[in-house]
Amino acid sequence: MDRESKQQRVKRLERLCHERGLPVTMQRRTVFEMILDREDHPTADQIYDQTRKRIHTISRTTVYRILDTLVGLTLITKICHPGSAARFDPRTHQHDHLVCLHCETILDLKETRSSKVAWPDVSSYGFVIHDHHIHFRGLCANCIEKRGAEERTTQRPGGRHPRTPARATTRPIAKQKRRIPS
Ligand SMILES: [Zn+2]
Ligand SMILES: [Zn+2]
Repeated sequence: MDRESKQQRVKRLERLCHERGLPVTMQRRTVFEMILDREDHPTADQIYDQTRKRIHTISRTTVYRILDTLVGLTLITKICHPGSAARFDPRTHQHDHLVCLHCETILDLKETRSSKVAWPDVSSYGFVIHDHHIHFRGLCANCIEKRGAEERTTQRPGGRHPRTPARATTRPIAKQKRRIPS
């Protein structure tokens, strides 16, 4: 979460909406509050599912539109990683991500050292750089642990079921290994 409190962020939403002549609807406020409460970089569908529990009548399209508005107001950021659904982040300051290639978990990297990247001179491209994002890809602690548990299970004679039921690790280890570049 940015240094601003949740209440301050909601106040900022109200102020920005007023400035742009946008009504501060209950729906906009609810979607925004949902994102502020999450640290896991949810997808639009996850936010929709969560919002619908509070506002039963809200449509998927409305949630998508609200997300676009919030991104446009720079209240949240949209992060896109190749091959994955867009994710939404309440942290708008420059920060880097750790992306799990297996379960697609995205973690915020607290260390800021990696963000200090010298921007190249791209004037010859006619391009103007606004910002940059670094994502380090690999395996999260959960996936490493599950993989270890599965390997231990498959080594046990007759043991087919790992102790913790794994959602995404039911495919054979050999195949899984091939999917994950080292
Ligand atoms: Zn993972
Ligand atoms: Zn983030």
